[in-house]
Amino acid sequence: MMAAVRAAGLGQQVALIEKNASGGKKLLLSGKGRCNLTNAAGLEEMLERFSGHGAFLRDAFKTFDNRALMSFFRERGLPLKVERQQRVFPESDRSSSVLDVLKKELGRLKVEKFFNKTARSLLAHNGQARGVEFTDGSRLKADKVILATGGASYAFTGSDGSGIALAGKCGHTIVDIRPGLVPLVVKAGQVATLEGLTLHNIRLRWSCPGKHLDTEIGELLFTANGVSGPLVLTCSGVIVDWLRQVKEVVLHIDLKPGLSTEQVDSRLQRDFRTFARKSLKNALKELLPQRLIEVCIRVCAFDARVQCNQVTAAMRQKMVSFLKDFQLTVTGSLPLEEAMVTRGGVSLKEIDPRTMESRLIKGLYFAGEMIDIDADTGGFNLQAAFSTGYLAGESAARSA
Ligand SMILES: Cc1cc2nc3c(=O)[nH]c(=O)nc-3n(C[C@H](O)[C@H](O)[C@H](O)COP(=O)(O)OP(=O)(O)OC[C@H]3O[C@@H](n4cnc5c(N)ncnc54)[C@H](O)[C@@H]3O)c2cc1C
Repeated sequence: MMAAVRAAGLGQQVALIEKNASGGKKLLLSGKGRCNLTNAAGLEEMLERFSGHGAFLRDAFKTFDNRALMSFFRERGLPLKVERQQRVFPESDRSSSVLDVLKKELGRLKVEKFFNKTARSLLAHNGQARGVEFTDGSRLKADKVILATGGASYAFTGSDGSGIALAGKCGHTIVDIRPGLVPLVVKAGQVATLEGLTLHNIRLRWSCPGKHLDTEIGELLFTANGVSGPLVLTCSGVIVDWLRQVKEVVLHIDLKPGLSTEQVDSRLQRDFRTFARKSLKNALKELLPQRLIEVCIRVCAFDARVQCNQVTAAMRQKMVSFLKDFQLTVTGSLPLEEAMVTRGGVSLKEIDPRTMESRLIKGLYFAGEMIDIDADTGGFNLQAAFSTGYLAGESAARSA
């Protein structure tokens, strides 16, 4: 939609093709229905959030960065607000208000819409794009084609990977498609009693033979069969890649990152003196949520009825280990369909980052999640889609 808006804004006759009855289904879902449309961070910080591929986006961001995107929406009557971690949302808290601006703009610029039309293949002649063919056999001729068909998750929104396959069919290398920003699954039974519990201010460390990854302090959410929440989602892409080489990755949860091992030990000694006649279960209430106390007692193999004045130094050491290094065994992730973003896609090597034009087929451009770029949560993925869309629309229009 942004590509169409930019190309039409530069005076081109533009057709927007969409397989659904209307556009922007995934946009409507984004940010839990509130649409975290961008992030207010500076350019360098933004680029760092793109799992090693940020450099590719430098030109797209220079052409249309987060400030330009925010102005685009504000100038069209959509007030925005910046929330924690510089996440930008519409003041309305409704993603539909973001989509409405785009739809109105498409209408104002007289972009012709073809809904319920699925592009099946590219029409090309002598290495030059000439239009697209649809699944119903009909064709649309065009001097330039911009593919912006999204990733391959939440297929009911329309982005089912068919556009990526189309790019592959016309000769483009497709980097392995895999889930990013996805909840992780742990060994059966490890978190069964913790579903729904959120831990704030914890630190995570991930390890497998020869590799480890540390996080900042943040939040973790236990799910029915594993872990999720911002810290987990951010690391999930890397962990999914590790799990292609090893069977298991160990997740180490530091439940008290603000305290050293010695400080945790002192704290326990003090608490056990204060609550000498209380059961361990009751004495730990200030340190851990109830459900986690039960897990602690199970993991340390203690008798639940044991009193604080019966805790030995060896038992205390076990508890210190639990508090500083509660370990879970990660065995996989939810499937791609349930990932917030698709990793992999059209190879960056075959796209000119200054224009988004294919290096293989003249007049063919790419934008958005179908390209082999993906980022952290925080509005970066939508910003990348808007920026690459804008640049693709501009390049296509200017070379017409
Ligand atoms: C639940 C969820 C929440 C998210 N929240 C956020 C968030 O808050 N902030 C953020 O930055 N990112 C978020 N994302 C990611 C973000 O939504 C995507 O990265 C972004 O929508 C990608 O934009 P796109 O235009 O490339 O693809 P899409 O938005 O997927 O749009 C592609 C369009 O192409 C159409 N299409 C596909 N194939 C064909 C075909 N062959 N022919 C015709 N039409 C076709 C589809 O129907 C679709 O409408 C979220 C993702 C999910 C799943």
